[in-house]
Amino acid sequence: MTDGLIDGLYREGEPIADTKAPGGPLAERWSTRVFSGHLVSPNNRRKQKIIVIGTGLAGASAGATLGEAGYQVTSFFFQDSPRRAHSIAAQGGINASKNYRNDGDSTHRLFYDTVKGGDFRSRESNVYRLAEVSGNIIDQCVAQGIPFAREYGGLLDNRSFGGVQVSRTFYARGQTGQQLLLGAYQALERQVAAGTVTTHNRHEMLELVVVDGRARGVIVRDLVTGEIETHLADAVVLASGGYSNVFYLSTNAMGCNVTASWRAHRQGALFANPCFTQIHPTCIPVSGEYQSKLTLMSESLRNDGRIWVPLAEGDTRNPRDIPASERDYYLERAYPAFGNLVPRDIASRAAKRVCDEGRGVGPGGLGVYLDFADAIERLGRDAVVAKYGNLFDMYRQITGEDPYQVPMRIYPAVHYTMGGVWVDYDLQSTIPGLFVVGEANFSDHGANRLGASALMQGLADGYFVLPNTINDYLSAGPFEKVDAAHPAVVEAVTNVQDRIQALLSTRGTRSVDSFHKELGHIMWEHCGMERTEDGLLEGIEKIRALRREFWADVRVLGEAGELNQALERAGRVADFLELGELMCIDALHRRESCGGHFRAESQTEDGEALRNDEEFAYVAAWQWGGRDGAPVLHKEALHYENIELKQRSYK
Ligand SMILES: Cc1cc2nc3c(=O)[nH]c(=O)nc-3n(C[C@H](O)[C@H](O)[C@H](O)COP(=O)(O)OP(=O)(O)OC[C@H]3O[C@@H](n4cnc5c(N)ncnc54)[C@H](O)[C@@H]3O)c2cc1C
Repeated sequence: MTDGLIDGLYREGEPIADTKAPGGPLAERWSTRVFSGHLVSPNNRRKQKIIVIGTGLAGASAGATLGEAGYQVTSFFFQDSPRRAHSIAAQGGINASKNYRNDGDSTHRLFYDTVKGGDFRSRESNVYRLAEVSGNIIDQCVAQGIPFAREYGGLLDNRSFGGVQVSRTFYARGQTGQQLLLGAYQALERQVAAGTVTTHNRHEMLELVVVDGRARGVIVRDLVTGEIETHLADAVVLASGGYSNVFYLSTNAMGCNVTASWRAHRQGALFANPCFTQIHPTCIPVSGEYQSKLTLMSESLRNDGRIWVPLAEGDTRNPRDIPASERDYYLERAYPAFGNLVPRDIASRAAKRVCDEGRGVGPGGLGVYLDFADAIERLGRDAVVAKYGNLFDMYRQITGEDPYQVPMRIYPAVHYTMGGVWVDYDLQSTIPGLFVVGEANFSDHGANRLGASALMQGLADGYFVLPNTINDYLSAGPFEKVDAAHPAVVEAVTNVQDRIQALLSTRGTRSVDSFHKELGHIMWEHCGMERTEDGLLEGIEKIRALRREFWADVRVLGEAGELNQALERAGRVADFLELGELMCIDALHRRESCGGHFRAESQTEDGEALRNDEEFAYVAAWQWGGRDGAPVLHKEALHYENIELKQRSYK
């Protein structure tokens, strides 16, 4: 291996920089940028068209706000209703630095916790802005009527999430995402009624249209009729969510995929830190070979639940028969300052470690206990029901065990992707006119996202950041009208048709799902919780072989001009097969551990992630290298002027 080139797996290109973030004092950068950006007057806004892909929290909030501003917004999503976007599954809460608890919180502390939580691999300017607008999100949502939990005096209640020592998480029982999405959906529908937003359900974006270097539209497939449609605009916003389902088994909704982002990547958008994946420590363990989905048990449960395993290896006694002296509350023992509320990457690895030592519980020894006995005794059962009732019900329905009586069994699972389309401070990708918001971009969480920060970021992007920054770009518009007969549009349509044809004409022997499942196994084995150089190299070989087999032997039944879910899934899996390889290359080239990216070769004496700031304090932004070409790495150096770069400690 030589620096910058691992056996021809990638090439190194020119460094890149985020030229939009202003310098100067951190606390003034956002207002400086808002003021320096050009505006579009209200009467000119109505002449401009914006396409928004996605109606999750990021897309619905962006669509509603841009519509309210007066732009003509067209929104696409593949579910039947905007309310079914994956955001609806978010359970635990949303962060904001309101300091309602008077426990020392501030914008600066939320900023600090987030940069530290991300293991110093995120941008200071972005994260500070996120912390700065966090309070506005709560005000906006309260004004919409979101039923956040309140404490006895009527003020909004807060709880704690991992990696912090304050309580700043606002919540609506264990259904925060659902309530927030209903608010964003109402706002979107209000614009539909006002005529500024048009929504297209059951439509999947399959290609980005780039004309003269600018994003000018999308090619979508009507999933009900199979018709291929062209939609053109002045700007395109991707709010298409994360790509955890590359692992097949994850806590994400089954439909989550990378296609919109990947198509943009293939058209020139750089893809940043693809290997930064979050493995969530508290999920219901895998129960069998036929399972296709994993269920999260919200991190909020770690406020009151205590995590433990038996002290002795192979102890199969009923947990209630194991006395306290024979239990290992390993997080409380190893991380006394944060206890059960250490960040997710740390809690996940600790769970893996005790299971590797043979002290795991449940079938296969792949589980640890999350125990509420003490909380029920301390707070009373009613209080526990009020806080977590729906999560307990969900656990009981899935496992058949009553968590009020026996501890929950949990194990880490893939949950969130910090990587995504590279964007600058304006949330604009490397393709002018293509903006990316929410989980689909890579912007704010570095190598590990803190709990309750995804909803914060998605809504910050959609309600507050994008609606300001996109004006600067659109102030040069409306752009010259693009005709559907333009060669770039025709080429995009042809790409989509050829690909559909290729998928349908193979008529091989293996189902799409079997390929997806095998890819998931490879990713989990080789690019999962622990990564090694040899393992990653092997993973890349296996993915390449699987991709070849896919295109030679996939069996997609049915036709193009009809409802065809096998065809939909085939397209998504084809993209995952390319993404998976890039994730492995990214993980291989980053010869350090940071946050959720744990390279076994780079750890401290006590098994914690060991960063290498000298060589790797950068964002890895990858350029598509062509189907058989090597991807090109562009490094964006990260600068820390307001936070000291140091080894993370939660002890
Ligand atoms: C079980 C679970 C619980 C969670 N709990 C929390 C929590 O408590 N707090 C927190 O902060 N975070 C939580 N998260 C993370 C958070 O929910 C997500 O990161 C966030 O909701 C993503 O929002 P989004 O708007 O970016 O994308 P999504 O909500 O995933 O929406 C994506 C949208 O894009 C559309 N789309 C995608 N591809 C295409 C395409 N090709 N064409 C057309 N449309 C497309 C979809 O139809 C959808 O409308 C949780 C995640 C999970 C899995």
